[in-house]
Amino acid sequence: MSHVSLIKLRRESPRHSAPSRYSLPQGRRSTHFPQRVKLAARTRAGDGDPYMARCEWCHVWLGRDGGEVRRRVADGSTYPVLTSVANAVLLCGNRNEGCSRKAARREFEAEAGGWFIRGGEGPEHDPRRVPVLVSLDGSTVFRWLSEDGRYAAQAPAGG
Ligand SMILES: [Zn+2]
Repeated sequence: MSHVSLIKLRRESPRHSAPSRYSLPQGRRSTHFPQRVKLAARTRAGDGDPYMARCEWCHVWLGRDGGEVRRRVADGSTYPVLTSVANAVLLCGNRNEGCSRKAARREFEAEAGGWFIRGGEGPEHDPRRVPVLVSLDGSTVFRWLSEDGRYAAQAPAGG
């Protein structure tokens, strides 16, 4: 677990504790979710227990502090859910390695699995309406990320 802790320390050392002061540090857009959203994503990824969190894409164990909580839609969207847990995924690694790297580089595989979403208007850019491809109970299925931090088997109702 020690190498995991080091990654965490390096990535999050300049802590911005006051959400009211709206300034995005350069190159750190993946880490500016509120703590409660990060915790909700880790809890979902740990099937109810953030200490059991796994990478939501490849399922490697991350625990309470490993990996990083990334935005799926990072820019170009006007949806109020940008900072909600529907737009948050816990991925292993960082911008230089692991699943986070694949999402940061907007690789085809990342987009096909819903881990990265292009910014824009319309439901195909709305993180509430774009499912992620997850492994659950041994099968690979699409699940929608609900705004209350669950994997939903169906898209949310309404427009
Ligand atoms: Zn992974």
